[in-house]
Amino acid sequence: MTKYIFVIGGVMSGVGKGIATASIARILEDRGFSVTACKIDPYINVDAGTMNPTEHGEVFVTEDGMETDQDIGNYERFLHKNIYKDNYMTTGLVYQTVINRERNLEYNGKCVEVVPHIPEEVISRIERAGKKAKAEFVMIEVGGTVGEYQNLLFLEAGRMMKLRNPGDVMFVLVSYLPVPQKIGEMKTKPTQYAVRALQGAGIQPDMILARSIVPLDKPRKEKISVFCNIAPDCIISAPDVKSIYEVPLNFEKDKLSEQILNKFNLKPKKKADLKWRNFYDKIKKAKKPVKIAITGKYFATGAFTLSDSYISVIEAIRHACANTGVHPKIEWLDAESYEKNPAKLKELKNFDGIIVPGGFGSRGIEGKIKVIKFARENKIPFLGLCYGMQLATIEFARSVCALRGANTTEVDKNTKYPIIDLLPDQVQNIKSHKNLGGSMRLGAYPCELKKGTIVRDAYGQNLIMERHRHRYEFNNDYCDNLANNGLIFSGINPEKNLVEIIELKKNVHPFFVGTQFHPEFKSRPFEPHPLFVEFIKSATHTILNKQLPIRLLSLRGRSPRQSRN
Ligand code: GLN
Repeated sequence: MTKYIFVIGGVMSGVGKGIATASIARILEDRGFSVTACKIDPYINVDAGTMNPTEHGEVFVTEDGMETDQDIGNYERFLHKNIYKDNYMTTGLVYQTVINRERNLEYNGKCVEVVPHIPEEVISRIERAGKKAKAEFVMIEVGGTVGEYQNLLFLEAGRMMKLRNPGDVMFVLVSYLPVPQKIGEMKTKPTQYAVRALQGAGIQPDMILARSIVPLDKPRKEKISVFCNIAPDCIISAPDVKSIYEVPLNFEKDKLSEQILNKFNLKPKKKADLKWRNFYDKIKKAKKPVKIAITGKYFATGAFTLSDSYISVIEAIRHACANTGVHPKIEWLDAESYEKNPAKLKELKNFDGIIVPGGFGSRGIEGKIKVIKFARENKIPFLGLCYGMQLATIEFARSVCALRGANTTEVDKNTKYPIIDLLPDQVQNIKSHKNLGGSMRLGAYPCELKKGTIVRDAYGQNLIMERHRHRYEFNNDYCDNLANNGLIFSGINPEKNLVEIIELKKNVHPFFVGTQFHPEFKSRPFEPHPLFVEFIKSATHTILNKQLPIRLLSLRGRSPRQSRN
């Protein structure tokens, strides 16, 4: 029988429920079980595609083209496997399904009600996800915090599942224990209230993951145990850690897998796998810093800066760095600041590599183009992702091919040189949808790599599959012009002859690559993405070059005499 573990948040949001869910999944998988993980987002949005990244974090795209919450990305990275669209649902999606079914007379004249029909739909989605993944364990992360109105129906689904099969369902509460500075003592009361709120929804948690800045001590463990009605062994200490990749190791210090398996009367199928520990050791050992700039615009929320909008990019950098033996120092640079103050561009010289990630709309675009030009002219390793690739072709068209005013029609509908444009069938698609939702190229598509290019060498194969999320494409009318001026179209989608990757020759620039797809979605701890690895290697090389005495540097390059020959 499949086992179901619900993960619910208490006290406040942002305490790392997603990483906790992914970590439990990882630990169980390391004990020989097949695990999958689902995310429930209590929003009316039917998918995450229309949510603001600064508010909600990155939109993660699955192989089968669903726009989901970033936590699905965490599950993929921790479980090292693809998670498909069945594993993600929002309130909007669940209601939409039930309403469509009602319109199709599928309820045979019954009154369709919020309870039980909405929780029933939730349950059937959870069970379907488990079946499709052939999972022995299904993790279900319920978005939001207990006590909120919005996720009640999802808790109700969990309660109903437990009632039907008490031995197959358990509830984990990820709570937060503050240590107020003035008091200097860890406080358990908010957790007690959270447990009471959960009990009010008919659910007794089986386990508490006690998030705090420091580990939980014995007196507090005992206090939570008595007041929350949970055995002390099932109260797991979850202190802040430097790297999310340490979380599964930390949980196991409190014997988390043993406690979970005990609950279900199961024995581990094998000894804990050491792969994860080895990866974490690599992160810890890598000391040599490599400075990477991410030039984006989805950072600021009021007085705070968030990096969640680019979480997969950041994790892909981390994977590549750990496996290359260097330590990433990542900085966020606000693209708009270069528009207001171009002299600021000089600061880019301090970086070993620059990434221009994906994005939408016109804000910050000219700033990003300036950054790309600087990276190209100053030979700083550059990786452009989706919009970053599109803008790299625009910059090249403007600066190298003298196509002044070249642009994407996303920004300038009347540009003289629409280097990036909508395909005719996309125009049709948008018209027939009457709105923009559903008009994107989403999910995995094939891409053929050209022999003798940086990317072909990096991937080590001719045909790859990568994930997409965009509306606009490179306009093939400009292929010849840009190619004649030195831009290499090194990856092409064979189905529609679309440009997927651009690059510059190695003797012109150490690493200048742009991809129409999002390689960051496929990077995993033990399988870092080849393009990120090459980018980081090249950035590391830049540091080496910086450290070499000038005389040696000139010996390394081609001498003028050689190049004349
Ligand atoms: N805005 C661009 C497009 O829609 C790029 C999208 C992206 O970077 N994900 O084509």
